Amino acid sequence: MENFNELQREILRLKGEKNALILAHYYVPLEVQDVADAVCDSFAMAQKAAKAENDLIVICGVRFMGESAKILSPDKTVLLPSLDAGCPMADMVTPEDVLALRREHPKAAVMCYVNSSAAVKAVSDVCCTSSSALRIAKKLDCDEIIFVPDVHLGSFVAKNVPEKKFWLHPGFCPTHHKITEADVLAAKRAHPEAVFAVHPECGEDVVKHGDLVGSTAEILDFARSTEAHEILIGTEGEIVERLRRELPEKKIYGVGSSFVCPNMKKVTLRALYECLRDEKYKVELPDNELKAAKKSLDQMVNS
Ligand code: SF4
Repeated sequence: MENFNELQREILRLKGEKNALILAHYYVPLEVQDVADAVCDSFAMAQKAAKAENDLIVICGVRFMGESAKILSPDKTVLLPSLDAGCPMADMVTPEDVLALRREHPKAAVMCYVNSSAAVKAVSDVCCTSSSALRIAKKLDCDEIIFVPDVHLGSFVAKNVPEKKFWLHPGFCPTHHKITEADVLAAKRAHPEAVFAVHPECGEDVVKHGDLVGSTAEILDFARSTEAHEILIGTEGEIVERLRRELPEKKIYGVGSSFVCPNMKKVTLRALYECLRDEKYKVELPDNELKAAKKSLDQMVNS
């Protein structure tokens, strides 16, 4: 069972036996992605879970991703392989913080990045993903927006939607925040022919150098479709590995040393195997929180 391939085979056997759907985020280890039915961004995982006929869903990702899947599939069993795989950025904002910001800025609508807890979504007006944030901010029928929790994505949106006033919560993703402008400039000097694709969770001084600023899925699509043969990647390290495997004809470089989300790496093959075997850890949410959070997600989808 300790053998890597044997573990993968056991996971696939249990998956078939239990008619489970395994969905993996792009940042979990590649060997976990390899046994998944689909690999996608966090909200796409929740949407795929909702559309699937399976009653047992395994979300290979961090806690808020499991919560989003449960919000859209309240009658299904949603499992997370690692109980302590959380998202430090999501944990930086609480519902009380949001309510305090609402009191300070009573005319503002609350826009909340999907990388947040169900409890925070429940006290927000609308959610957004990194790819829909700009569109939703522009369309929101409000002149002032409180954006939580990511200050970098919030700044990027604020800069591109100058007609509205933004109040930004100071949260950030510790993984993307580590990428510095000096890293980008050094990588550009080392690979002058390369185009640069960067995630908006990085700081403004990094994002401004991007030929593409986009979500993980958009970065992957850009790398696949660009005519450039050298691509610099400004996001989590697993994407660099995935693209090197997928596009051997192109040169894929990470910026600086590899930037790793330690929480995503807690979703190991062993954890996934035990999750399926024991049907743990079930995501449960209070009914009122689930319904209120669903309103914010529905608002995003319908915007
Ligand atoms: S990469 Fe950043 S935002 Fe994504 S789960 Fe890790 S800490 Fe959270």
